[in-house]
Amino acid sequence: MQNKLLEKLSILADAAKYDVSCSSSGSNRKNKNKGLGNAGAGICHTYTEDGRCVSLLKILLTNHCIFDCAYCVSRRSNDVKRAAFTVQEVVDLTINFYRRNYIEGLFLSSGIFKNADYTMERLVLIAKKLRKEHNFNGYIHLKTIPGASPELLDEAGLYADRLSINLEIPTEDGLKLLAPEKNRKDMIEPMQHLKDRIIERKDERKVIKSSPIFAPAGQSTQMIIGASGETDRQIISLAQNYYQNYKLKRVYYSGYVPISMDKRLPNIGTQVPTVRENRLYQSDWLMRFYGFEANEIVNETNPLLDLDVDPKLGWALRNMDQFPIDINRAAYSLILRIPGIGVGSAKKIIAARRFGSLNIEHLKKLGIAINRAKYFIICKGFQQLYADKQADVIKSYILNSSASKYKSIVGSQLNLF
Ligand code: SF4
Repeated sequence: MQNKLLEKLSILADAAKYDVSCSSSGSNRKNKNKGLGNAGAGICHTYTEDGRCVSLLKILLTNHCIFDCAYCVSRRSNDVKRAAFTVQEVVDLTINFYRRNYIEGLFLSSGIFKNADYTMERLVLIAKKLRKEHNFNGYIHLKTIPGASPELLDEAGLYADRLSINLEIPTEDGLKLLAPEKNRKDMIEPMQHLKDRIIERKDERKVIKSSPIFAPAGQSTQMIIGASGETDRQIISLAQNYYQNYKLKRVYYSGYVPISMDKRLPNIGTQVPTVRENRLYQSDWLMRFYGFEANEIVNETNPLLDLDVDPKLGWALRNMDQFPIDINRAAYSLILRIPGIGVGSAKKIIAARRFGSLNIEHLKKLGIAINRAKYFIICKGFQQLYADKQADVIKSYILNSSASKYKSIVGSQLNLF
């Protein structure tokens, strides 16, 4: 590869690493006409040392930007080396990397040069060339540029598997402070537009099979956590609102990395603990798959997630009056609320109890984490443990047993050497 192109690649791949919204599930684009690649669900990801996903060719078209968002390494006022790919360079890189088996697809974002439409046109053109000229059927995730016109979004959806519009800063006040050139309207309107188009096109395809597919992996967004002082309650409630009203496939939470010494940032120099990011993802999971509402996970009295325990256990400890739950009688939705029981195990319980009452040994065989569940259940021949104890005592038992389990795993691994 020429040195100049290599240099661009190193600058623009590095600048893209702060965007975490790059998982590639949810598409089912099949190889056709002896084309290149397939974008089936389950494309595997790899993660760099700092936890960023690199399974896709993840780059910016350019890190030049006319905006000056305080939290962003590419902001106008930041003194960094700048670069820009041409449309053809991105197309060639994607095809060459794909053929060498380095990547499964493309994740393409960009700083804004000139204006939103000028930038978006180029992103769309790259996707179009890949699909039309190279018959590329691999995964394509395009970031949409806030303020880009609806016609360009319509075109983008014809070629990309997923489109995303980053909310970045969760609250209006935070956005005004840290990204004053952006406004929420330029993010919400395209989300609404894409939601409508995705539904319209799906309905159309039910009647006319040959109608073009439109953003089959849906739309997603990303919020930066910790650059402004939002509570977990604000973040989780906002995520719920976007899932419900804009039918987002995913909300990603990216702990702010203190790359910027911009004075507008209140938490300058402080790194968001990874565990907070993890707890937000667990809360997100509870809303999408476990039937939890945002205000059950965090509320006015508890606006911050307990970082010591996962949010489902946190909810259970705050609601001990809802337990014990009878494994042999309770509805599926209640079984799902028991700490130590996931979606898969809850389904197995419902299926298995048709053949007779389940006891603790059955539950172990079904893969239930008994060390957690035992404080919250009754089943055949088993009564809830420590029913008379306070929630904080139960919490300390669980934390201690997790710590000793961890020690014994580490110990047995050390014994291998
Ligand atoms: S518009 Fe995007 S690329 Fe430009 S400074 Fe803001 S976050 Fe960074």
